[in-house]
Amino acid sequence: MHPISEKLIVWYNTHQRELPWRNINDPYKIWLSEIILQQTQVVQGLNYYLKFIETFPTVTDLANAPEDQVLRLWQGLGYYSRARNLHAASKFIVSTYNGQFPNTFETIKQLKGVGDYTAAAIASFAFGLPHAVVDGNVYRVLSRLFNLQTPINSSKGKKEFQYLADELLHTAQPALHNSSIMEFGALWCKPQNPKCEDCPLQENCLAYHHDMVAQLPVKAKNIKIKTRYLHYFIFNLGEDVYIQKRTEKDIWQNLYEFFLIETSGIMEETKLLCNPKLLEVANDFEVVSISPAKKHILSHQHLYATFYELKIKQTLSVDNFIKVTRNELNLYGLPQLITKYLNTKINLQTVIL
Ligand code: SF4
Repeated sequence: MHPISEKLIVWYNTHQRELPWRNINDPYKIWLSEIILQQTQVVQGLNYYLKFIETFPTVTDLANAPEDQVLRLWQGLGYYSRARNLHAASKFIVSTYNGQFPNTFETIKQLKGVGDYTAAAIASFAFGLPHAVVDGNVYRVLSRLFNLQTPINSSKGKKEFQYLADELLHTAQPALHNSSIMEFGALWCKPQNPKCEDCPLQENCLAYHHDMVAQLPVKAKNIKIKTRYLHYFIFNLGEDVYIQKRTEKDIWQNLYEFFLIETSGIMEETKLLCNPKLLEVANDFEVVSISPAKKHILSHQHLYATFYELKIKQTLSVDNFIKVTRNELNLYGLPQLITKYLNTKINLQTVIL
């Protein structure tokens, strides 16, 4: 066993958190927890994990559920492609493997939404296979231990870090080793204020000895942020409103939203209210309220959303519109930006009626 792995395991045995997906070997539950935690903090992901396990106890239950139900349960977690991939992969497992979870690194990696990290996590935790995980925590720990300054989001960096992770792996107990290094990164070798003075790896840590801890890991800055302006029109007919499903390959695919006009820049309210697209849907309305544009930040996009509450007198006949009462909106998967708006407008119905 590598001495660093040995120290990590000793540390883990006294510091690990109790989490429901720890020390289990059910590949379905491990997979679910890994997908939920991909871009989510443990505290936030925990409730979602418990909700999913309760609603879909097995991979077959998940496969048999309508996609709308899966997306609704996912609501608030963001990165909805994770939920769509999870659902598609569960169907694949049922149709291809008769509901038995695939049990090799290569076959696990064939599942939609599963990359090297998730495949290594499932292979090691569920099947005890010797695959080293490299997630954000592991990148940080390794970059500091070895004072490695190659950007972690470069292809060269990915290879170098995977090589180091494989070198350190305790192949006889890959699950224990992987859990230890990830937990160590999450609790000790943290992005800010790592606990260097109380660290069992201090003597091994090159970054500590070269005063480089705060500079590592290095990330290449190549992310372009796109700014989008979303103008939502809520057609109110008595207690009813109209929603539609987002079908394009874009953010929030297959979630529901109000009628939308998107512009590439800020646009005056008066211009928007006589936009031909809007008038094609409804030309006899009364403006009840207009919310000021609110900023909503996604990883690569900044969204500015405005909501127009419009009162109409006649039923709208637009092909993809669904008429629901405001109370029924929570039965549909909605982007968080819309849910937040609705929560602030809880009493609006009384204003409109
Ligand atoms: Fe991380 Fe500090 Fe320990 Fe180095 S000494 S491994 S930077 S916590």
